[in-house]
Amino acid sequence: MKNIPSEAREPRLLDRPEFIYSVVLFLFALVTVGYAVYRADGPLQLRGWPVALFFLLYGLFTIRMGYDHPRVGYVSFDRVAQLASVLVMGPVDAAWVVGLASLIFPFGRIRKGVTWRAITIAALNNAGLMSLMILSCGTLYSFLGGEIPLRTLDVPELILLPILILTTQGVNEIGMRVHTWFRSRGRSGARMNGFAFALESAAGLVAVLVAIIFNRMELPITILLLTVLSLGMISLRQFARMRMDLEVIVAERTRILLIKTAELERLATRDQLTGLYNRRYSDNYLDGRIEEFHRYHRSFAVALIDLDHFKRINDTFSHEVGDEVLKRVSRVFSARCRQTDMIARYGGEEFLLCFPEADVATVREICEQLRRAVLAENWSDLAEGIQASISVGVIEIRAGMERRELLNEADLKLYAAKNAGRNRVMS
Ligand code: GH3
Ligand code: MG
Ligand code: MG
Repeated sequence: MKNIPSEAREPRLLDRPEFIYSVVLFLFALVTVGYAVYRADGPLQLRGWPVALFFLLYGLFTIRMGYDHPRVGYVSFDRVAQLASVLVMGPVDAAWVVGLASLIFPFGRIRKGVTWRAITIAALNNAGLMSLMILSCGTLYSFLGGEIPLRTLDVPELILLPILILTTQGVNEIGMRVHTWFRSRGRSGARMNGFAFALESAAGLVAVLVAIIFNRMELPITILLLTVLSLGMISLRQFARMRMDLEVIVAERTRILLIKTAELERLATRDQLTGLYNRRYSDNYLDGRIEEFHRYHRSFAVALIDLDHFKRINDTFSHEVGDEVLKRVSRVFSARCRQTDMIARYGGEEFLLCFPEADVATVREICEQLRRAVLAENWSDLAEGIQASISVGVIEIRAGMERRELLNEADLKLYAAKNAGRNRVMS
């Protein structure tokens, strides 16, 4: 046996409370139903083995007529065969036939790649729960005087049949909740919803119809009814599956659309070369900030930055090296500014930075740091003899200023920095 680290090892089957619960439930059901059969002087007292076999197969068919609902779980018409078998064979035979169908059914899912562990738990849990549910609710129905085999709908049945349908739903619901409790160790599982309730009630009423026809009509009419009902179940299942398939397709398309939308948004607001915001974004951003300033007096300052003698860099070292310089300068800005600062490539070798809630003195200091950082960058590994520097114009928003005036004034400061010999900050 291979040695697996303890965290990686799956818990052994017996260690799991869910498994132990399923085994205990199944054994309890086995003993209880076995005792009921013994007390009834053996199986098949009311109807012969062909009827039992029929309800076993019909039970398997109705469980199969289901699908995995994304919220409710596995939804099927199993209640039709279960309640009909009570009303035809009585609770004792119905209990073991229903239990047997529930025990067998999960093993058909082996082909779908469901694990043995999950199948065993489902088989034991379903067989235990369903047989106990049918035995208890069916016995209550017959104890209260409900007719078995059901042939008429008189007053007692009109009261007792809804009780039978509702009590099975109640027992089923409690059983499922206990099971999910053991599965998730304390966290509560899915709750019964209106859709499941309506479906189960409808299935209960169909079961009443099936039982009456089974008990009263000749075989051809019974077969006709069962055929019509089965075709109805198959169609409903098809519709449900189509809807599920559509949901999967829609989810996939939505996912792709979201990715594409995010990509388009990025393209619309970002500069291709540097990945910084583009002019279009920064203009919108500035308008928003100016609006905020005029409304809520939240001040801010901007810095207009231009690379010095950039044409010379392009001409001397090539346009590609020039692009590389632009990227590096962008990285220096991004690394030294805060998340809340806005950094945009405003034009060819011009950058616009916006610092919310900051005054001129602070921004001037930040820009001084940026200027020194650009200067200190190890440019020579890009090309021999290359050196880059920046000139910066800083301006703070004032009352009544619009974007155009703000940028014009920043441009004037930048111009002054250039005139004063470049590689400096003016405010
Ligand atoms: P100054 O110090 O006065 O700003 O001089 P400068 O040479 O930087 O100014 P000028 O405006 O004359 O030149 C800007 C140059 O920037 C011209 C243009 O070819 C170059 N440029 C603009 N966009 C790009 C780009 O995306 N990549 C590269 N490599 N160069 C660019
Ligand atoms: Mg320029
Ligand atoms: Mg320049």
